[in-house]
Amino acid sequence: MTPTAFTAPGRFWRGNLHTHSTRSDGVLDPAEVCRRYRAEGYDFLALTDHLIGIYDYPIVDTVPFRDAGFTTILGAELHSGPMANGEVWHILAVGLPADFARPDAPHFGLVAGMETGPALAARAVAAGAFVAIAHPQWSGLTLADARSMGAAHAVEIYNHGCAVGCDRADGFGIADLLLTEGRDLTLIATDDAHFHEPDHFGGWVMVKAEANTPEALLAALKDGAFYSSQGPELHDVRVEDTRVVVECSAAATVIVQGAGTAAVNVQGTSMTRAEVPLGRVERSSWLRVTVVDAAGKRAWSNPIRR
Ligand SMILES: [Zn+2]
Ligand SMILES: [Zn+2]
Repeated sequence: MTPTAFTAPGRFWRGNLHTHSTRSDGVLDPAEVCRRYRAEGYDFLALTDHLIGIYDYPIVDTVPFRDAGFTTILGAELHSGPMANGEVWHILAVGLPADFARPDAPHFGLVAGMETGPALAARAVAAGAFVAIAHPQWSGLTLADARSMGAAHAVEIYNHGCAVGCDRADGFGIADLLLTEGRDLTLIATDDAHFHEPDHFGGWVMVKAEANTPEALLAALKDGAFYSSQGPELHDVRVEDTRVVVECSAAATVIVQGAGTAAVNVQGTSMTRAEVPLGRVERSSWLRVTVVDAAGKRAWSNPIRR
């Protein structure tokens, strides 16, 4: 697992992978959601309404909202259960076919004989989707829950709606533990926008692809050819001998993290290049990079397996 975002051909496309509309519990209709993301400079959007019975199991057709400068990927947030805490799973599936066989999930509660969350995620992956464990901290996910989700490509490490609404945005706690166990994973920041509070335009992915098409974006997501951001840009992240070289938009802090307590940082003013010595991260089987700008906004690389 070495992220290809900085070596793959193409350019970066900005997108939000987790969004709701009036087709489930969001406030705006799908056309207006797409219009707002496009107007804010996004290149693509995945509308991921809750795939449950009370909303008539929506996988919303967003094809009509595509144009020359903006595309959409069909998707949904999948629910089945239970997690260890007795609540239903929230599983993000981007790139679902419209005819994906619906689970028996009539509402946000449990029903007898329900498909397990991991089985539902595996079906989504088999159907072609890029699948992520949504908002682990908000869900109260345990490490055992996360381990059981073997099919997932990614963990949602920052969920802007969960940051704004309940200060439970984090997925790094679980993701770092899974990485240390040897699990191959990528890391996504999303909005989880419903537009009933300032839960939008706060966290996104920058996906490297040769074309802004659903097919190319989906392939790049599965390949790990992306990074996540709240604002800062990553231009290159590479390991050279005993240091990590990071090229980025103006940064105040560049951090390299690894297993356990290992982390090394370099601080400065308007840094566009940092050389971070591996130090205690050298013994870790993986590392990742966080860039923080002067306003406190962050960008996060995918993990690099060593
Ligand atoms: Zn959710
Ligand atoms: Zn959601």
